[in-house]
Amino acid sequence: MVLAPRCRAPPGGAVGAAAVSLRRVTEAPAAFAAFATEAASNAARRLIEFIDASPSPYHAAEQAAAALEGVGFRLGDPASVAIAAGGGDARGVAVTGGSVVAWLAPRRVGPQTTFRIIGAHTDSPNLRIKPNPDGRRAGLAQLGVEVYGGPLLNSWLDRDLGLCGRVALRGEHGPQLRLFRLDEPLLRIPQLAIHLDREINEKGLLLNKQQHLAPFWATTDVAGLPETPGFAAVLGEAVGADAADILAWDAMVHPLEPSRIVGLRREFVSAPRIDNQLSCHAAVSALATLASSGDGAASDTVTVVVLFDHEEVGSTSDRGAAGGFLASVLERIWLAAGGERGGFLRALAEGCCLSADCAHATNPNYVDRHEPDHRIALNGGPVLKVNANVRYATDAVSAAVWVEACRRAGVPLQRFVNRTDLACGSTIGPLTASALGIPTVDVGAPQLAMHSARELCGVADVAALEAAMTEFLR
Ligand code: ZN
Repeated sequence: MVLAPRCRAPPGGAVGAAAVSLRRVTEAPAAFAAFATEAASNAARRLIEFIDASPSPYHAAEQAAAALEGVGFRLGDPASVAIAAGGGDARGVAVTGGSVVAWLAPRRVGPQTTFRIIGAHTDSPNLRIKPNPDGRRAGLAQLGVEVYGGPLLNSWLDRDLGLCGRVALRGEHGPQLRLFRLDEPLLRIPQLAIHLDREINEKGLLLNKQQHLAPFWATTDVAGLPETPGFAAVLGEAVGADAADILAWDAMVHPLEPSRIVGLRREFVSAPRIDNQLSCHAAVSALATLASSGDGAASDTVTVVVLFDHEEVGSTSDRGAAGGFLASVLERIWLAAGGERGGFLRALAEGCCLSADCAHATNPNYVDRHEPDHRIALNGGPVLKVNANVRYATDAVSAAVWVEACRRAGVPLQRFVNRTDLACGSTIGPLTASALGIPTVDVGAPQLAMHSARELCGVADVAALEAAMTEFLR
């Protein structure tokens, strides 16, 4: 592989010497007190607002696009993507379902122009409403749900749940899509009482996805009560449409408890969907900062943020990381700026992609599940993820770019590798790297309780990731 100029490791003489100086630069205290700063708590508060406004991937994509529209990005249909007129640069944002791509590009691309991309994902594991959801059992009206991705199933029990997603309505000129959210405590999945499952604390909780996860929302068959409405009727009322005009839905449940900053010193963020709305929010904030600073106009770089849906279920879809969505939009941006196909492929090979997804912080109650020499601390700074079997796309070349971005941002860096005897998770990094032929580095903020309905991360890590991403894009 030809080394990309912008992805070249920093000059430093012999490899050994470079490695030593790299360690010295990046070695940081296990946790840093930056969570106490105003900037850090502001960043955490903005993240909380974003998460609470984004119960579904559709809402997350809408929120991301709206934030960028606020700094001059023009919203366009990806099918007719063109370089939008702006000040000194061209900036646009395109949404398709729960995926969104935004770009900041020079008016004309040239032989030196390259791509710099941050990718993340909008979706989180949860429970999705089935097409014929209405059921009755034991005097209760229930909704049938499918499990989306790999949630910690137990975390959805005994929580007050709302409904959200999007609905396709019959319209005069074809189906109309509308987002909806019902932030009402409508649904509940009750756990079986311990008296009826005496060995649960010794043998663990076993949940059958078909049998044990259907939420209920009403009593039925009670004399004097009116007939319980079905899901379509409730949905129709929520969006102001006749139930007969509902053609289909992508609906899901979401936990209602608002996100909070918690801990003795208020140093943690407790929220749903931190994986991976934290990375989405940081990437959008970094791009907005770059666009507002005017640095994008001066550079010879096509800067892109792409937030994919469907990462949690393998990314194989029209708008997932394994589909053609990103490549197609990138090529159309390139052609609209006067480039040709050969130059496009060169600009990818010489570019760099940052794949951002949350990383496992070391759980204090399960230290043995983590690699002992790669402890990852909450509030310890962004994480560089490495896997020899390319479950992460990181290599020395792409890693060096991120190490330097963290140094310039003044934030500590942590290096993650899985225990060798445990299978490693993966993310969109290897998919975008292989589909586009772009050097890629996998990074993320540390978190606990990944894939729980209620996750946890460090306040300082929110601002730190954002600052390092801004440096990566600059
Ligand atoms: Zn993730």
